[in-house]
Amino acid sequence: HAKKFGGNRVEFFRPGMRSQQTDRLALETDLRRALERGEIKPVFQPIVRLEDRTIAGFEALLRWDHPRFGRLNPADFIPIAEETGLIIDLGIFVLERTARELAAWQRALDVTPPIFASVNVSSRQLLRHDLLNDVKAVMTRSGVHRGTLKLELTESLVMENPEYATQILQRIRELGAGLALDDFGTGHSSLAYLQRFPFDTIKIDKSFVRPDARGARPTILRSIVSLAHDLGMEVVAEGAETESDTIELYQLGCEYAQGYAFGQPISALEARKLVGAPPEEPVARAS
Ligand code: C2E
Ligand code: MG
Ligand code: MG
Ligand code: MG
Repeated sequence: HAKKFGGNRVEFFRPGMRSQQTDRLALETDLRRALERGEIKPVFQPIVRLEDRTIAGFEALLRWDHPRFGRLNPADFIPIAEETGLIIDLGIFVLERTARELAAWQRALDVTPPIFASVNVSSRQLLRHDLLNDVKAVMTRSGVHRGTLKLELTESLVMENPEYATQILQRIRELGAGLALDDFGTGHSSLAYLQRFPFDTIKIDKSFVRPDARGARPTILRSIVSLAHDLGMEVVAEGAETESDTIELYQLGCEYAQGYAFGQPISALEARKLVGAPPEEPVARAS
């Protein structure tokens, strides 16, 4: 196996493409060790408050610095992690790591409301694992402000089992975590459920935010913003790439925006610099 998968494989492996069976197998094996080796870590993308363009929070996004393939995006390994169950360990890792950074940002920045961080959650974590306990442990240990550690879940995820999801999400809210409905507009959620789910934030998917080929912004964008506000939720627009995106999103009443207009995801160290927090203590490397 080692021979077959070695050396020149990098020539035909293209991250983001649907990988071949052999790539998958290699990645699956590697993934088991990647966490222990410190190859996987979150990067943090700023979420900006449109009113004054200050940093309101960050979203944690996983990256895998693979020794042979270079930097891999979530699309290259999250599906494998979900299928193999490794997503549970990955999920706990990113929660803990993000809460630790959030605590450091909050110590450095004394602002009201306090800075927040959001972490993506996958189906398996919510529906087939004790997510509640993970969140509880992390919230207690990190000492972050109530409501500032947020979980992002997609519509399709919560609609897999809406009754159960509602119950668990309610309890997660009671623990003091925030809840954001991610990629809103790409799934099929029913209005009835939307009202019952205890989300505090809707993240509008970038496909509704970006103008189309003729330069027109989807008309439904305005309706989504009103719907969210009618339901008492705040709005984050994803994929704000240009100044005109930013201006229009503000005019439409979105509270926050996230996208290349404000910056790509950055390392934990860079995020600390940005908010004026001291760099982390050097961590002993596993031998
Ligand atoms: P998402 O949660 O919707 O994250 C937003 C994605 O849009 C990120 O891609 C981000 O880099 C990208 N993005 C940000 N600004 C812009 C922009 O202005 N234009 C465009 N075109 N794209 C932008 P990324 O990092 O590749 O993550 C993809 C997805 O992977 C995430 O989508 C999320 O669903 C999943 N993911 C990331 N980290 C985790 C994790 O820790 N756990 C789980 N379960 N899923 C994760
Ligand atoms: Mg997200
Ligand atoms: Mg999203
Ligand atoms: Mg998205």
